[in-house]
Amino acid sequence: MAVYRLFLCFLIFSFALNQTLSYEEDDSPITRFQRYLRFKTAHPNPNYTAPVSFLVDQAQSIGLTARTIEFVPGKPVLLLTWLGSDPKLPSILFNSHLDSVPAEGEKWIHPPFSAHRTDDGRIFARGAQDDKCIAVQYLEAIRNLKSKGYSPVRTVHISYVPEEEIGGLDGMAKFAVSPEFRELNVGFAMDEGQANPGDEFRVFYADRTPWKLVIRAQGPPGHGSKLYDNGAMENLMKSIELVTKFRETEFDNVKAGKAANSEVISVNPVYLKAGIPSPTGFVMNMQPSEAEAGFDVRLPPLADPDLMKKRIAEEWAPSIRNMTYKIEEHGPMRDILGHPIMTPTNDSNPWWSIFKQAVEAVGGKLAKPEILASTTDARYLRQWGIPVLGFSPMSNTPILLHDHNEFLKDSVFMKGIEVYESVISALSSFEGPSRQVN
Ligand code: ZN
Repeated sequence: MAVYRLFLCFLIFSFALNQTLSYEEDDSPITRFQRYLRFKTAHPNPNYTAPVSFLVDQAQSIGLTARTIEFVPGKPVLLLTWLGSDPKLPSILFNSHLDSVPAEGEKWIHPPFSAHRTDDGRIFARGAQDDKCIAVQYLEAIRNLKSKGYSPVRTVHISYVPEEEIGGLDGMAKFAVSPEFRELNVGFAMDEGQANPGDEFRVFYADRTPWKLVIRAQGPPGHGSKLYDNGAMENLMKSIELVTKFRETEFDNVKAGKAANSEVISVNPVYLKAGIPSPTGFVMNMQPSEAEAGFDVRLPPLADPDLMKKRIAEEWAPSIRNMTYKIEEHGPMRDILGHPIMTPTNDSNPWWSIFKQAVEAVGGKLAKPEILASTTDARYLRQWGIPVLGFSPMSNTPILLHDHNEFLKDSVFMKGIEVYESVISALSSFEGPSRQVN
């Protein structure tokens, strides 16, 4: 019996030892990244509960305070804080979004929420680039800084917000206008950027503002055989010609290398709606009395929104041709001081210089600062005059956000942690004058 008990003890002991060893082997920055990638955070039903509780556990394991704020039930904003030695100084905020766009699993070589790591180190997952990488890198960088005994002067916050991929209205838009946000006294913030196939890191100082434009034409209906003036289709087609001409002029600047894609106003037709339906398709011998077209319009920060509205009202949808229009503006064009919403990337902005030096200190190279062609949550922060840089340290990486087979290489992920260690320590130890309103 005693021998049997001894044997049982031995079994339990070796099992426990094994568990501890494999747990240690399993718990590394890469495996923590993989665990975070496996949460099913894709729209239309993103799971926010599980990733938030994972992040809270991670935060507590490295001594950060965690707070969850729900501006909209079921859509949490998670805020982690590393208190600085001089909490009166404006703080630094690192942001990422919790949600992801959907993925068509059958078109992927590895399932999109498997976080499968290939022999050559590629980790496949929806969100690997956009933007779960930075979410985990922020924490890993702080973990390393803490283990080296670093403590910040300025307070460092990390925010994890919901709903970015569907416009951020129930996420950052609400957080950025809340008293909780004001209390943070944010002096500088960083948000997501994009990958670069080359060996430089891209950095973004502004987003374009999206407008959804719908123009409608009305006119007398008529027989399909009749030639007459001011039909709805004729008027809409005239407008489309003018829009096309404008689009070509803007695009020519891009083709000629005079401007980047994100520096011009893009106007792209996204739908056309007209005609009278019939059981076999459309009635062909009748000219309809209504016609409509929808456009995706993106304005860079220096574009003049009033001039654009005037053009739409007078040229593209003039009432004189029985036309009307509707513009749905997504986000502001000017900050609270009436300035274009962009963060200076020159020596006038001390944060820029510190950031740049910190990246270079670990051997990183920055590409020429860019305007992002699309939109991120950064605009809700820049709107307050807070300088924000969009940055995800992914060089030598194909741009795969929202694409099939999104992946990030383990070595690129690890390098990013080193970059953030340098960036977080440099920014949070900066003691100079800091609230820089552009
Ligand atoms: Zn994103």
